Amino acid sequence: MSSLLVEIDPVVQTKDGDPLGSVFIETYGCQMNVSDSELMRGVLGDAGFSSADSIQEADVVLLNTCAIREHAEERVLGRLSQLRHLKTRKPDLVLGVCGCMAKHMSEKLMDRLPYVDLVLGPDSYRDLADLVVRSRNEPSLSVRLDRAEHYDGVDPVRTDGVNAWVTVQRGCDKFCTFCVVPYVRGRERSVRSDEVVRQVEVAAADGFKEVTLLGQTVNSYHDGVCDFPELLRRLSNVQGIDRVRFTSPHPSDFDDRLIATIAEVDEICKFVHLPVQSGSTKVLKRMQRTYSRESYLALVERLREEIPSLALSTDIIVGFPDETAGDFEETLELVRRVRFDFAFMFKYSEREGTVAHREIPDTVPETEKSSRLESLIELQSRISAEVNNEYIGSVLDVLVEGKARKGKGRVYGKSDGFKTVVFTSEALPNTIVPVRITSATQKTLLGEVTA
Ligand code: SF4
Repeated sequence: MSSLLVEIDPVVQTKDGDPLGSVFIETYGCQMNVSDSELMRGVLGDAGFSSADSIQEADVVLLNTCAIREHAEERVLGRLSQLRHLKTRKPDLVLGVCGCMAKHMSEKLMDRLPYVDLVLGPDSYRDLADLVVRSRNEPSLSVRLDRAEHYDGVDPVRTDGVNAWVTVQRGCDKFCTFCVVPYVRGRERSVRSDEVVRQVEVAAADGFKEVTLLGQTVNSYHDGVCDFPELLRRLSNVQGIDRVRFTSPHPSDFDDRLIATIAEVDEICKFVHLPVQSGSTKVLKRMQRTYSRESYLALVERLREEIPSLALSTDIIVGFPDETAGDFEETLELVRRVRFDFAFMFKYSEREGTVAHREIPDTVPETEKSSRLESLIELQSRISAEVNNEYIGSVLDVLVEGKARKGKGRVYGKSDGFKTVVFTSEALPNTIVPVRITSATQKTLLGEVTA
């Protein structure tokens, strides 16, 4: 556990005399937020807070939020208005909003929702315990970005799952025109490689066999001494770690050394999530993605040449300003060519504070965005089903995660290539089992344990 000390005002107590009270954290958004919530639990646990099993039991409720899309913020606003009733019944409850939306809306959030006690940006978690205590007396706002904050020495408290998230890089320097991340998470900085190794050793000592390294453009990782391929090699040597994953790399930072490292090192999973965003060079330029359709396709070709078993997924935005029917057709054509294993697909939504919001009018009508998204999902779903069918007859090593929701005696887990595999077995979570694939759906492989 972390040796972090947080100064707490000893006169502040919850109503039942518990000096600090119990905390419930609800997490929205990406894996980075899941990892940050674990870090927040670490900070609060070290300071003496306990963990509540439900919102109803908690003295402190924190929503760790996302700002990437308008819909994500609307969801949290809806949730906060529900929690207002709880706060009316339980006036001593501390209600806090943390993470990207807290930074994105800052004071506006407190002005709009005066019953929120605490608004905390992603670089303020080291002071979380202190700020929670203070917010029992007066509303607290802490959203300053801090280029020096890496959370060195803070150990996360992981709640469930067989994968340990490890944040190796915070912030982003790419400034894609549609994206709010550089403004809410600050500039890119890498956690020292010795600290990353220490964290992975802690995860291994806690029994984790799989780690996933997180960063907004994780493959641009560099701590001044060690770059990303070198970091991957160091982590794959940590005793007890069988699988190393990472997300999300940026296509422009993928070089031949990284490809060779993934190909050569057994522990590095043969799965890459490689966001493309659009298949049109013209649109990519307006998005400021720093690569072209051609260079993206060339990268995919190199990856597949060197790592024939590679599974690939992506992110795609449809309806970016001025995206023509021809541009969209180029996206469909790229998807047909690459044949991703799966994709996260979204309609463009303008985010306040971004370059696109200031300078590029949102021109594609909502109905057109919806119809393009529908066509894309239809195409990708068909491809995902076809790709999954190709696995029938093969044997995959599956890391068991738990009991399957359907079917007595069935468990599910992930293959090296990030496929969800369901099969009948008594294997416990966190064991690796060889499974022969017997059938497939668009989202899942089904199989049986083989010798
Ligand atoms: S690379 Fe672009 S899309 Fe990704 S976090 Fe940075 S600015 Fe956002």
